[in-house]
Amino acid sequence: MSSAADAVTDTLRELHSRFAELRDGELADYIPQLALADPDAFGLALISMDGHRYSAGAADVPFTLQSVSKPFVYALALSLLGLDEVCRWVGAEPSGEAYNAISLERGTGRPANAMVNAGAIVTTALIPGTADATGFDRILECLSRFAGRRLDVDEAVYASEVATGDRNRALAYLIRSTGLLPVDPVAAVETYFRQCAVQVTALDLAAMAATLANGGVNPLTGGVVIDEPVAAQVLAVMATCGMYEVSGDWLLRVGLPAKSGVSGGLIAAGPARFGLATYSPLLGPTGTSVRGRRALGALSERLGLHLMHNPALAGSTVTLVTTADDLPSAPTEEQERALRERVAVVAAQGALDFTAAERVLHALDEPRPEETESVVLDLRQVTGVDTVARTMLRSGLARLAEGGRRTAVVDPAGHLAVGPGGDPAAPRRFESRDEAVERAARDLGTL
Ligand code: GLU
Repeated sequence: MSSAADAVTDTLRELHSRFAELRDGELADYIPQLALADPDAFGLALISMDGHRYSAGAADVPFTLQSVSKPFVYALALSLLGLDEVCRWVGAEPSGEAYNAISLERGTGRPANAMVNAGAIVTTALIPGTADATGFDRILECLSRFAGRRLDVDEAVYASEVATGDRNRALAYLIRSTGLLPVDPVAAVETYFRQCAVQVTALDLAAMAATLANGGVNPLTGGVVIDEPVAAQVLAVMATCGMYEVSGDWLLRVGLPAKSGVSGGLIAAGPARFGLATYSPLLGPTGTSVRGRRALGALSERLGLHLMHNPALAGSTVTLVTTADDLPSAPTEEQERALRERVAVVAAQGALDFTAAERVLHALDEPRPEETESVVLDLRQVTGVDTVARTMLRSGLARLAEGGRRTAVVDPAGHLAVGPGGDPAAPRRFESRDEAVERAARDLGTL
């Protein structure tokens, strides 16, 4: 019996013991080496955006990536070639078909998406070698950076797939016949088999998923593996295509971008929250881990991770309006009342994005607009302002100034990057709220 740990580990352990009982499913045997896996092996892992690692069960047992490699090689292709070029070769539509189906677009022969084998083989073929590195060297290096440690190939699994991989070779030849494979089919498939045979653990997979969830920055190493827009593109394709013919049902019930592999690995990413992974080699009819699907489904429900649920949690980025309470006291009651009516103070807190900026601007404009002559935006409790929010706040404040309002920001951290003086529409910047309010009151002649 394991000792009590933290709340997250307890949850993982509980799910582990609940689903370990499940013995449904079969080991993959079309790659003979995969049939040697221990059917009882079952591990769960979760890595937070701060790089906190949690696990239960066989989270250190090595297995091969198989199709879980696909989103990461897709990320590399997008990084090297850009979305438009990659889309010329591989589509982004869910195929609704099995992983090894001939999912080629009618007319063009373009593979449906990069998560099914046809699209993954083309994606792999798009990675060019350089003077000192083969395409596969670059893939391995990229996968390793996602995992945060040097990964290697399981040569036995690789050889096993090379010996039996005729269907994938056939797919590659078929695609080549439509002109949409830039390299020799045999070479393309061999590189693809190699990437499938890269060995990882559930903890590695959780780090890889966490890197996608964290906008391309590995939370364990701090290394920028891919740019944020690429991470978003990969997550989008995982959300619609990552679970093959059950992708729609998975998004409906579990609500997370995910990718499965026939060796029993399964990843899911909670954007800006967690990277999740499971390992259990017993597969259901669609080639995904039975325990993994159940455990990640339960975890998403337990932790409220479904993407379509409550996307902006009130409280995490909220703003609050305080007019009267924090104003300095004026010499007379009448002056104090005037001050309250004429100066509005809005305090924002947390990380400001588009949603939060909309609330802040609405709050600034709302209190008795006819009477309020001066507005003070207090950003001391703000932890960050993204580019969209910064532009919105600056132009919103400028608009208020144009409408005749005096505007000020309390922004010691310089979130709004408002310079001293210069632009008459720019708000005045103060270090403390008292200073800003006192100045507003003085300007209005109420102090
Ligand atoms: N290497 C496997 C294949 O191409 C990967 C399939 C999967 O993991 O879904 O058949």
